[in-house]
Amino acid sequence: MTEPALPRHARAVIIGGGIAGCSIAYHLAKLGWRDVVLLEQGRLSGGTTWHAAGLVGQLRAHNSLTRLIRYSTELYASLEAETGQATGWKQCGSLTVARTADRMTLLKRVAASARAQGVACEMLTTKAAGEKWPVMRTDDLIGAVWLPGDGKANPADITQALAKGARQRGVKIIEKSRVTAIDVADGRARGVSVGEQQIEAEVVVIAGGQWSRQLARSVGVAVPLHSCEHMYIVTGRIEGVHPDLPCLRDPDGYIYFKEEVGGLLMGGFEPKAKPWVSEVPDEFEFGLLPDDWDQFEILMQNAIVRVPALERAEVKRFINGPESFTADNNYILGEAPGLRGLFVAAGFNSMGIASAGGAGMALAEWIDKGEPQIDVWPVDVRRFAPFNGNTRWLRDRVSEVLGLHYMMPWPNRELETARPFRRSPLYDRLDAKGAIWGSKMGWERPNVFAPAGAKREIVYGWDRQNWFPWAVAEQKAARESVAVFDLTSFAKFLIQGRDAEAELNRLAANDIVIPVGTSVYTGLLNARGGCESDVTISRLSPTEFMLVTGTAQAVRDADWIRRNLTGDAHATLTDITSSYAVLAVMGPRSRELLQGVCRNRLDAAAFPFGAIRPVELGQATVLACRRTYVGELGWELYVPVELAAMVYDTLMEAGGPAGLSDAGYYALDGLRLEKAYRAWGRELTPDHTPYEAGLGFAVKLDKGCDFVGRAALIEARKAVPKRVCLALVATDPGAPMAHGGELILADGKPVGEVTSGAFGATLGRVVMLGYAATGGERPDAAWLARRTFAVDIAGATIPVSASLKAPLDPANARVLA
Ligand SMILES: Cc1cc2nc3c(=O)[nH]c(=O)nc-3n(C[C@H](O)[C@H](O)[C@H](O)COP(=O)(O)OP(=O)(O)OC[C@H]3O[C@@H](n4cnc5c(N)ncnc54)[C@H](O)[C@@H]3O)c2cc1C
Repeated sequence: MTEPALPRHARAVIIGGGIAGCSIAYHLAKLGWRDVVLLEQGRLSGGTTWHAAGLVGQLRAHNSLTRLIRYSTELYASLEAETGQATGWKQCGSLTVARTADRMTLLKRVAASARAQGVACEMLTTKAAGEKWPVMRTDDLIGAVWLPGDGKANPADITQALAKGARQRGVKIIEKSRVTAIDVADGRARGVSVGEQQIEAEVVVIAGGQWSRQLARSVGVAVPLHSCEHMYIVTGRIEGVHPDLPCLRDPDGYIYFKEEVGGLLMGGFEPKAKPWVSEVPDEFEFGLLPDDWDQFEILMQNAIVRVPALERAEVKRFINGPESFTADNNYILGEAPGLRGLFVAAGFNSMGIASAGGAGMALAEWIDKGEPQIDVWPVDVRRFAPFNGNTRWLRDRVSEVLGLHYMMPWPNRELETARPFRRSPLYDRLDAKGAIWGSKMGWERPNVFAPAGAKREIVYGWDRQNWFPWAVAEQKAARESVAVFDLTSFAKFLIQGRDAEAELNRLAANDIVIPVGTSVYTGLLNARGGCESDVTISRLSPTEFMLVTGTAQAVRDADWIRRNLTGDAHATLTDITSSYAVLAVMGPRSRELLQGVCRNRLDAAAFPFGAIRPVELGQATVLACRRTYVGELGWELYVPVELAAMVYDTLMEAGGPAGLSDAGYYALDGLRLEKAYRAWGRELTPDHTPYEAGLGFAVKLDKGCDFVGRAALIEARKAVPKRVCLALVATDPGAPMAHGGELILADGKPVGEVTSGAFGATLGRVVMLGYAATGGERPDAAWLARRTFAVDIAGATIPVSASLKAPLDPANARVLA
């Protein structure tokens, strides 16, 4: 068959004919895009897709990713009828078994989370699990979970079905056409080149699987993925194995199973992966890597434990294929920051078959509407920065990532490879004081300080972990005396220019027309009224604002602001994150401590809440902002990095009698939850309006300026919100820990999910935030009073009190002291 001729123009060019590219093409066409071209360098599915095992599991840690996979399952179930092309889709269900008590706790949490997300799920005894999977050994198991909606599919057939559906709607799919360059002009992707031939396009999509990093890098965009070898075997027929056998996962043994022609397909995720080459060769169509029985041994040994019949089974095929893994085990989706019109869908971490249906739909909507239509932050390309594209760093990291699939996903689990990475100027000082480090956006951040003599390590567990008393002491220091937190990783932007005020006021929901030397908390919203970010904006001069946002959102927020600035406005954004260390000095004795080393007056009249100004602190001049994320009297000090060590030493010297303690992010989390302070990415997402989140106080509909999201909020305010953010406090001081993802019950019925959980040392209880469905009633005090709330923690129903206000100091007396 001859390939169609390459066109000169297209509205969208998709690079890559794997399952992801075909899904994007299908969904763009479904949205009415008529002039779409998909280019594949070889034959469809000849990259990684063709040899995938084809398991489709629905449940993910994040709600919207689960929703996307559920969409995939519905799509795969209907594609054959729609296109006439077989897909091999079978809703056979899946079993996950537990060998240990900790794993069993996880499965119970999974079951509760499935209920919260509306996914059918049932806990099974080992006997019942054995009945569903008769060839499995069960005497060493504790229990299992059963997801009847999970399934399996033939990846190459699904790809062909998506391609057929796309072609039927007018998409041109051209094989044997390698894109040799992405054409760029004026900060926009303008098309692609296939050798000498150029195709102009409004939109270019990289769906090039493991080749995507190289393609993106050629135009200065980081798509941090790296291939690892990934393996499975297929056996001859085994008695008792039949086509309806569910998929089976035994994560304690790192393995999975699926029926294949009366035998078993068995693969897994070994703890230490084998990265493949860092530069993927052009020629690798329908390619495989050599068998590696040494690497596979740990999986084989575990598989024989689970299915003893495997010992005698014939191994018909050994498949070793490269698959791309990312720095955090989530795929990479969205429009590249800094290069308009270039979109990416890649790095599927061995979940591409399960994910592609939903990911293709979400990206097509993003392309069509110009912004994502649901919260896809966990997979958003903007969660990475250019430094994440470093080859050596990525290679070191992915060796750990593959194994994460079946590792225990402990709360607060930290990745260990490719660290320490980005360090605050205080890193060595804090390290010497026992800091136990966590990592966010590559920054090393003190989670907690181990006291002298204690072993400096985190012992993971579901309930109170070994650091619990250390973090409690740090919380107490902040509530009763004074503590210093190194918050250097905060992202900081300078917005400057004659139009900076007008532009920011158009982007912010709060009124940012404020006097020089003051600051305001505000959401940045999308057109749907959803929360794109929550930030503090400080006015440094008539034409200069500092915007401070969360560590993780540095790239995303800078990109969002830049793309929403009016084209010809006199306003620029400069990322000054690396210029300033941030020390938050917090607690009732913070004023006393700071006044001892500062020349400027810090009393409430001279330095009210929200003020920001330069102060002389010892020999250094720093920018002090009276704000808090822990709910105490305190100042955030923005310190030029080169002065940070001196300022820290000055504070520590002065702190002696007042007892200045170091404190870390574990303490911060407990403190902020006692005050019900929301966190972006948890309580605040692009899908939540400020009214649902309880942040109506930071919305100024009547500020005299039509800000982004205002029209949607006017409508939202008229209606009863579908859900509301609640502060929940466990009634029993000994209640188990919540970490987020737990099911909220009202009068025994599922109504929502916990978004954050920690122990609040002042209240002496587990404190949480989460969303509950309102059931069409306005959520007020009477609404709350009519309901009895509880939280399901690993199958146990934990009574909680619920409130629309902060559980601690709702009148803010401590903050305003
Ligand atoms: C052994 C193994 C088992 C797996 N099992 C499962 C499973 O059970 N469930 C699951 O969900 N996932 C599984 N996966 C993962 C899944 O196969 C991948 O995530 C998925 O196939 C990725 O699809 P893709 O479209 O992103 O990439 P690919 O299938 O690699 O498609 C990318 C395409 O882009 C083309 N391309 C690249 N550069 C260019 C260029 N310059 N010009 C034109 N074309 C280009 C390539 O030729 C390729 O065809 C498994 C993977 C492996 C290796």
